[in-house]
Order: sequence, then structure tokens, then C-alpha cells
Amino acid sequence: PARPIYAGQLPAGLQTISNIVAVSSCKGGVGKSTVAVNLAYTLAGMGARVGIFDADVYGPSLPTMVSPENRLLEMNPEKRTIIPTEYLGVKLVSFGFAGQGRAIMRGPMVSGVINQLLTTAEWGELDYLVVDMPPGTGDIQLTLCQVVPLTAAVIVTTPQKLAFIDVAKGVRMFSKLKVPCVAVVENMCHFDADGKRYYPFGRGSGSQACIFSNNIVVQQFGIPHLFDLPIRPTLSASGDSGTPEVVADPQSEVARIFQDLGVCI
Ligand code: ADP
Repeated sequence: PARPIYAGQLPAGLQTISNIVAVSSCKGGVGKSTVAVNLAYTLAGMGARVGIFDADVYGPSLPTMVSPENRLLEMNPEKRTIIPTEYLGVKLVSFGFAGQGRAIMRGPMVSGVINQLLTTAEWGELDYLVVDMPPGTGDIQLTLCQVVPLTAAVIVTTPQKLAFIDVAKGVRMFSKLKVPCVAVVENMCHFDADGKRYYPFGRGSGSQACIFSNNIVVQQFGIPHLFDLPIRPTLSASGDSGTPEVVADPQSEVARIFQDLGVCI
């Protein structure tokens, strides 16, 4: 997609990146980081030059989900830049690679740290930078969206009613910022056991799961793509083991879903 009109000056560190994709959710624990990382490695598998920026300063997931040899970001003292670490050809920057414990910071400080990490990193030429956003739609997220010229957003959610309300908030935030929401990923929608398919968050008429699966969300907000991501123990296990599922098992059902998502970014 074309770059949105960007009012401010493009931060120098981001000038060599063609597309910056935000992966966002309004709550923690819905699978945002899982989607961000697997999407990034899917794009890399398609031949793109990719980076991941883990913007979650309070609970960075990237260090668990990938296993780079070098687990510390290096500084270039002359240029005062940060050199991303790398795993399987994807460039990685996360507060979790900054060699500090869990952050105790106030909002404005967090925004400062995020902006510094993001814009002083030596990303080099990238086709896609996938930004794993901090959960929510508060000040930190808004500031980040204003600093970064996002080209697309993917919203991750679970099928409950409460999550649906949050999706609406997320869509509104991005639409105010003129960032196109290209896809909603409805995560953990079902699992298969004993030859049957189960919908743990419900599916009957009136449930929000039904609204999602009837594509009403997609029409209502003008989001072109909706993806159902099932609960899969392998997805969780691969995330914990440091090799994303799309890399560990590129023929899996999950990998195919990510390939479909990758194509629409
Ligand atoms: P978030 O970034 O929204 O906080 P994570 O991506 O860290 O969420 O996911 C939370 C936990 O749920 C992780 O342990 C992850 O492996 C697991 N998980 C996420 N999506 C799935 C899924 N579809 N199937 C099984 N486990 C999942």
C-alpha cells in the first residue's frame, strides 16, 4: 500500500523502510505477538527483507519467541545508533534485548524509550517492518502511531463480546490517524479434538463470534480481510521454544493462514 501522508519529518532511521505494519490488540494475551512474529517470518519466507520491532516495553515477548545467537543489542558509539540483532535473516529490536530488567516507567518515558529504540536502530533497507504494538489504545500507542508512518494495521482479537468492543476502539484509532486496517485476525476461535470442532468462546446466534464469522465486522468497518486462527498447541509451543511455527512447520494449517495474511499486507 502507498504511504499515508505524513505531517511530521520522517525519522532518519525509518527512511529506508518501504512498509511499516502495526500489529495491534486492545488487550494483552490475545495472541498479538504470536501473530506479529509469525507474520514477519511468513513475509521473510516470501523473500521480503523484514524487521520486527517489539514495542511492548512492559512485557516484551520477542526474546522468548525467537532465538537469535546474539541476545543483546549493540550500540554504534560513533553514529549513536543501535544495531538490531538477527534471527534467520529477520532484524530484531526489542526492549527485552536491551539488557535491562522489566521496565518501571511512566507513560511519557515509555514513549521516549520506544521512539529512541525504533528510530535510532540501523534497520537498513527493509521491505517490511512489523511493529508489535503495546496492547491498548492509550497515549503510548497514539504517540507511537504519530511518530511512525504506518502503512497498514492488523488487529488481533479473540471472539468474545468484550473483545469486539475493543476492536471498534482500535479501528477508530487507526482511522483517525489515516492508517488503513487491512485485516482482523480472530485468534483462538476454535480447536479440534476427537474429530470434532469446538468453539470455546461460543458461536450461537447473538454471540459476537457469530457476528465475526458473518463478516459483519469486516463490512461495518470496511476492513477487507478477516482471518480465523485456531487454538493449536504447536503454535504456543513453537512460540515458547524460540522458533516461530511458520518456520518450524511451513506446511501446517497455521502457516497457510499466515501466508494468506501475508499476501494482503
Ligand atoms: P499478546 O501478544 O496478545 O499478549 P501472545 O502472542 O503473547 O499474546 O500470546 C499469549 C499466549 O497464548 C502465548 O503463550 C502464545 O503462545 C499463546 N497463543 C496465542 N495464540 C495461540 C493459538 N492460536 N493457539 C495456541 N496458543 C496461542
